[in-house]
Amino acid sequence: MVTVKPDYYDDFRCLMGECPSSCCTLWQIDVDEKTYEYYQKLDTPYGEYIRSQIDNIGDEHWIKVYNGRCAFLNDENLCDMHCQIGPKHMAFTCRQYPDFTIACDTYEVTGRTLSCPYVANRIVREKSKTKLIIEGKSHDEYENEIFHIVNKCIEIAQDDSIKYRDREKAIIDYIRKEQMYLVEKFKVDEIFMTEDNKTIWDYCDTLNSLNVVTEKWPKILSQLEELEYSENDIVKFEEYLGDREKEYENILVYFLYKHIMYSTNDGNVFQRVRFAIIATRIIFMVGLMKFIENEEFTTEDNIKVAYIFSKEIEHDDENIDTILEDISLGMI
Ligand code: SF4
Repeated sequence: MVTVKPDYYDDFRCLMGECPSSCCTLWQIDVDEKTYEYYQKLDTPYGEYIRSQIDNIGDEHWIKVYNGRCAFLNDENLCDMHCQIGPKHMAFTCRQYPDFTIACDTYEVTGRTLSCPYVANRIVREKSKTKLIIEGKSHDEYENEIFHIVNKCIEIAQDDSIKYRDREKAIIDYIRKEQMYLVEKFKVDEIFMTEDNKTIWDYCDTLNSLNVVTEKWPKILSQLEELEYSENDIVKFEEYLGDREKEYENILVYFLYKHIMYSTNDGNVFQRVRFAIIATRIIFMVGLMKFIENEEFTTEDNIKVAYIFSKEIEHDDENIDTILEDISLGMI
């Protein structure tokens, strides 16, 4: 078994009451069966209170949400359940967040999600090239190949001898060849590899069809739809960013790392790489829009855009499926 994590993984500190977008707001938090059973047996007044704050349909259980806040989020923005019965009795989702794990047959790829403001801050501000910490060995040729693709895409994304925009093109050129190699060598299904020639306006229909958790994202999206910009505006924004283009490299590396390994299911690396590029491009375009509007766009602004995008869009599996489907149809 090979375990992989990014080098920033161990640098994590929950912002708790200071968090600007707590994971205890906006999402519906599912309660896993084992934890639910524990709550059922908790014979204390607090146990009774916990049970009163959980809704159920069949064997699905979730915590009630009031005005977008988890029922257990107290006035200090701290988790009341954490204080009362300790972290080990919280639902699996709460114990795991902000971690994600992609469990393949011989790889376990772990990371921290961009939707958490602490993690977004850490990722976007990173000055050095993100490295992966890899332990163990796999003899699974196919999974080794997919992991090789992850590494190669990250290497191209971090190639600062070429402009950031040209790295996206280089990644697409590389992944086309790799996709054909997977078809030939590992007999994965052939896919239609669409052109990467769409603009932000082409993305809007797809983006409008996605599930969101607040009104924030549709508002940003409707502003994006109205955005009038030229190549000159992009060049000006790139000049304004200077070395800060690295922020987009970091975001792209995050998406490549998190999403390509899912391709071990179907061998479709092309669409997942395009997803990573499109996701980063949308975050870039929101930055461009804010820059045109205000003539400035700070790193703090970029961190906020990144965690809003991840929280609103990336966290929903249905959204990912819709985007991958629209990529496969050549719509985006
Ligand atoms: S989103 Fe991250 S920093 Fe904020 S409360 Fe949750 S784990 Fe802590």
